[in-house]
Amino acid sequence: MVLADLGARLHGALNQFSKSSSIDDAAIDALLKELCAALLESDVNVKLVAQLRAKVKAKKSLEEAEKASGREVNKKNVVQKLVALVDPGTEPYKPVKGKVNVLMAVGIQGAGKTTTCTKLAVHYQRRGFRTCLVCADTFRAGAFDQLKQNATKAKIPFYGSYTETDPVAIASLGVEKFRKERFDVIIVDTSGRHKQESELFEEMVSISNAVKPDMTIMVLDASIGQAAEGQSRAFKDSADFGAIIVTKLDGHAKGGGAISAVAATKTPIIFLGTGEHLNDLEKFTPQPFISKLLG
Ligand code: GDP
Repeated sequence: MVLADLGARLHGALNQFSKSSSIDDAAIDALLKELCAALLESDVNVKLVAQLRAKVKAKKSLEEAEKASGREVNKKNVVQKLVALVDPGTEPYKPVKGKVNVLMAVGIQGAGKTTTCTKLAVHYQRRGFRTCLVCADTFRAGAFDQLKQNATKAKIPFYGSYTETDPVAIASLGVEKFRKERFDVIIVDTSGRHKQESELFEEMVSISNAVKPDMTIMVLDASIGQAAEGQSRAFKDSADFGAIIVTKLDGHAKGGGAISAVAATKTPIIFLGTGEHLNDLEKFTPQPFISKLLG
């Protein structure tokens, strides 16, 4: 079930609830049943769904005790719990003008890192930041060419090397150069694959120690479904990141895996990737996202 379908189904369940003749336990149970089924079919982790169900029920008893029950109260309660699913309660780093802000992207190969780095650069450039890109992916042949092509198209200054094989050296040199030139936002793209997974994580830690990012962003492909939780946990354990960007939400991705990743890592989503073009980046904030999803 794609994200739009999930929204339509949640909307339908809440509507049905509004129309039910009475708001007894049976009506609330029917609403919860439909909500939980829709979330599970969208790949939201089963434990999270069970927690949501328990929380809605607990709140309901409390409200009954206070004699404050009613359709609107119950609906508001459900919507609040849905917002809480995508809101870990931590504020992401926000680039500040007048200082050098270093952002570093991590994630597995194919997740959309290089594309997302350019989208981010365009986003900040439009908001008046002097922005640039550093390609520290020396593992994938063609990675630098891809970044160069994207950056050139978007008229964003970039740094990389065809000859240097040490990603830490490239990242350090690139960030140092742009720091001296007083760029506002320096975005470092890293590799997403290695011979061994442990080597990839070691490399990310070394790059991070070298460039000291203000924010590390995990780029997560929404189409990997349930695997998003384990993948984000593994990255969080080694390359601690402070924000998530979920890509490929324009396709057939269910999106629920990304919701589970937020809960597993207690890290906020900051943007959604909604296409292959440089403008296909949407800002993410929990409350408006859920309101829009519910239609
Ligand atoms: P990397 O290996 O993580 O750097 O991934 P790339 O940036 O090379 O992206 C892999 C593929 O995913 C490319 O074909 C991109 O055009 C595509 N891609 C990236 N983000 C999105 C997105 O939000 N939506 C869609 N449909 N495709 C995307």
